[in-house]
Amino acid sequence: MIATKAARIDAPFSLRIIDVDQPSIGPCDVLIRVESCGVCGTDVHIYEGKAGIARYPIIPGHEFSGRVVEVGREASKYISVGDRVVADPTIVCGRCVYCRSGRIHLCLEWTPIGVVRDGAFAEYISVPANQTYRIPGSISFDEAALVEPVSCCIHGWDRISPKPGFTAAIIGAGPIGLIHLQLAKLLGAVLTIVSEPIESRRKLAAELGADIVVDPIEEDLQEVVHRETAGLGVDVVIEAVGGARYLEEALRIIGRGGRILVFGVAPEEDKAYVNPYILYRYELAILGSFINPYSMGRAISMIASRSIDVDKLITHRITLDKVEQALKRELRNPIKVIVKP
Ligand SMILES: [Zn+2]
Ligand SMILES: [Zn+2]
Repeated sequence: MIATKAARIDAPFSLRIIDVDQPSIGPCDVLIRVESCGVCGTDVHIYEGKAGIARYPIIPGHEFSGRVVEVGREASKYISVGDRVVADPTIVCGRCVYCRSGRIHLCLEWTPIGVVRDGAFAEYISVPANQTYRIPGSISFDEAALVEPVSCCIHGWDRISPKPGFTAAIIGAGPIGLIHLQLAKLLGAVLTIVSEPIESRRKLAAELGADIVVDPIEEDLQEVVHRETAGLGVDVVIEAVGGARYLEEALRIIGRGGRILVFGVAPEEDKAYVNPYILYRYELAILGSFINPYSMGRAISMIASRSIDVDKLITHRITLDKVEQALKRELRNPIKVIVKP
């Protein structure tokens, strides 16, 4: 067996760079040489022991791209050595009532790559071949590492299904908020207001086309929204931070008939204050959005066509030995961090 490197979390707050055997593949699998893998909030949660379903020890990393280096017998019908690919990290059972009714993201027995089974903070990863998508040559491996987060955001907009000409506020301009901003504009938003306390992120939001950028420490978001919408509130709020207070903030700026997308991952014990009367009276909708059903292909197309700029979101490229620093949030002003194993 060939020894290869991987970053493994053995228990919360304990990460090691280890030698692992190159993963073996079954007849329906492919072996991928990982080129790029994004660091996601979920990886931080796994490191901190806050991701409920995570199993330890685990090699995290679920936003990855790479080159196929070995193909199982069955898989060779449709994928070849040398193919540049991304993989959908969500492996579902295909048997449960949700899988069999077009709601694979609600699968009762899903095994996400990088959370329950080993992920791509490693030189090599073995995945079922039918989880992979070939990527066009116009997309770099680093950009391709953002296909998965873009696909998750696309699902969020599938949930909202806005009408062109809508107004939107986005709370939080991390990588996810900045992808949502671009999707909002692509889908016909005529006003986008982004709230973000970190200056470098506000700058990038403005560069990516936000109409109004708010520092919530200096300015009152509710006042800004009131001013910019003639007191009506916005049609869509994307909550891209995670936490009860951000949902409550969304409820203060949403307009009549508006839709709030709960996208940020809140602490599991958080409870928000919601006034049911206003949900009733103004027909407000609060929608959750979880992972990426049926949206990987569209994410690839949007990145390949330059409809979404993900390259601007990448601020750091690191090797495996810096992964722990990234998970401890010790890197300076990160937006998207890409691991190059
Ligand atoms: Zn992620
Ligand atoms: Zn299922």
